[in-house]
Parts: sequence; C-alpha cells; structure tokens
Amino acid sequence: MTRDAKAVVCREWGQPITVETIKVAPPKRNEITIKVAACGVCHSDLSATTGKIQYPPPLVLGHEAAGVVIEVGEGVTDFKEGDHVVSSFISMCGKCRQCVRGRPVLCENARKAMFTLPDGTVRTTDADGNDLNVFGACGVMAEYATLHVDNAVKIEEGVPLQNAALVGCAVMTGVGAVFNTAKLEPGSRAAVFGIGGVGLNAIQGCATAGAEMIVAVDTNDKKLEMAKEFGATHTVNINEVDDAAKAVKKLTGGVDYAFECVGAGAVAAQAYKCLGRGGTAVVVGVADPRDKTEIGTLSLPADERTLKGSWLGSARPQHDFPRILALYKAGKLKLDELITQTYSIDQAPQAFDDMVAGKNARGVIVFD
Ligand SMILES: [Zn+2]
Ligand SMILES: [Zn+2]
Repeated sequence: MTRDAKAVVCREWGQPITVETIKVAPPKRNEITIKVAACGVCHSDLSATTGKIQYPPPLVLGHEAAGVVIEVGEGVTDFKEGDHVVSSFISMCGKCRQCVRGRPVLCENARKAMFTLPDGTVRTTDADGNDLNVFGACGVMAEYATLHVDNAVKIEEGVPLQNAALVGCAVMTGVGAVFNTAKLEPGSRAAVFGIGGVGLNAIQGCATAGAEMIVAVDTNDKKLEMAKEFGATHTVNINEVDDAAKAVKKLTGGVDYAFECVGAGAVAAQAYKCLGRGGTAVVVGVADPRDKTEIGTLSLPADERTLKGSWLGSARPQHDFPRILALYKAGKLKLDELITQTYSIDQAPQAFDDMVAGKNARGVIVFD
C-alpha cells in the first residue's frame, strides 16, 4: 500500500529544509518498505542542501537510518516483515567485478543509485504528485522508505535502533577508515583532523585497534574534550598554534596514520604533512568536487608515505555493520555517547541548525 509519511525535503539548493507529508509507494521487485525508527543528521545531508553534493532537488534527505521491514516486494528472499535493518547509501549489486573482489563500496552499479533507486525511478512523491529524489538511494529522513534490497543490511535485534542507525554512515566511515582502509597496527601513533561524528569514530576506531598515541585536531575546545572521552590521548586546537601539522609532529615525532575527516584540501595537506616516515594519510571527508590538495612529491618515495582515500570506511556493509554492532555489544565501541541530542521530525530544522553550530556529536531524528 502507499503510505503517507512525514519527510525532510530539500526543495532548492541554498534554501532551508522543509518538513512535508509525502507519499511512499509500496515495494516493487527486490525492494522492501521500512518503518524508519531513527535517522542520524549528517553533514552530507547538509551538503546536499547547499549543492556541495549535487543530488538534484527536490530531494528527500537521510542516509543513516535504522528501521523495521513492514512490507517486502516480489522476489525478496533475504528480508521478511519484522526484520531490523540499517540503510546503506552504497548500493551493492553483489555481482560486478568490484563486488565479487570484496569491494562492494566501489560497486560498479552503485552510480545508478545515487538519488534514485537502482532502476532510475523513485517511490516517493510530494502532495502534488511530483517525484521526489532520494539521498543515496535511501531518503530515510522520513517515517517510511522503500529501498532496494541492495541498499539495506539486516542486523540482529537487541540493539536500540537509534544506535544502530549511526552505523549506516558516521560509525562505519570513521571506524572503517581505521580498521579497513588504514588497517592500523597496534602500538601506532595517529592523528585525527576534524572532530565531528566521523572524527570521533575515527578516534574510537584508533583506540579499539590499539593505537598508542591519538592526537585530536580541531578548532573547538568542546569537541576536543569529547575526543578525549572517545580515546584521544592528546589534543591540538588549531587556533592556538601556528601550524597544526607541526604541533602534531612535535607531540608524536610524526604519526603513522593521519585521518582527514573534514573534506578540504588544506586539511588533507596538513594530515599528510604530520606523517612520520612510512606514514599513511587517509582522506575521509567529502570535499567539494572542485577542491584540490598539495603535497610534497619527494616525500612519497623518500619517506615511503601513502595518501589514500576511504569511502564509507571501505565497508563491506553486510559484514561490517553487524561486526561493529557486535563490538558495541561487547563494550568495545561507544554508540550511546555519540547521540548527544534527539529530535522529532518536526524539529528537523533545529537539528540542522545545531549541526551547523557544532553542538552535537550526532543529532538523531527519532520517529514514533
Ligand atoms: Zn553521512
Ligand atoms: Zn556491484
């Protein structure tokens, strides 16, 4: 059946978000409809409202949600009503060269499902009957969402869904950059630039993986305090030093791993600059497509440095989402502490304002 759902929509780049009642069509073949329980508010949602991420509006926001399956389409075998799921904004076909070699995050078919479902159509319309695009083939900042099965990951019951939601983006991106992309070795020295939802997770990923020193770098003292709660051993406030990279190098002698969690070429250059010999800088933040960075070329061979990127923490979502939730259950990763504020969907504009003001580790919209 078609369902009415309150949803957070970007109508036009540069304009405030709107909360509207939309219609969500039932699942077609290989699709499921979920009742969304909670959806995190991510900087990427904000970037889609400014045009930094160029998904054409009108666009239903949201890509970091957990919910319960309430209807399954024809041909669906892996999900049934009542299953708990986390959305995946990476569509993973399971059959292409990248999926088969174990890199579903690079799925060759994922680009077909950027702001529509993989078949290029949507299940979402507004009050006037016009199609609404969906962020990352998800559009889960809404009471209901119809997803392709390749954009959903089944999880065990028993984890609060508002915690599980965060695994769909912030936690996977930060922890995965450490575990999967960098494969951080115990006893290493690390620095994390940019302490938002992703940066905090990079920090706790470094702590869980056994880093010896973890330096948090940001402009906001409150966030640096929070970083310590997640495992940072040292902090650098960029506003209090001439050069953050030099300050990190002075503390550590040069780090083995640096994580850029901002999405800016200038910060990527700093992350690279604070590396020691043999170090690896991982760019995690999503930059504007026109942004560029600059590094000293000689240091690549002479110091055997590496500069690499990490997309959704190099995730294998079906493997990694449950794995991260297992670490949470075992008390080895913090999820409760990440959620510093919850909002109703009607309070979504406030949630976005609070994110811009840097008030939250993660703000989460919770549905009835
Ligand atoms: Zn996100
Ligand atoms: Zn694929």
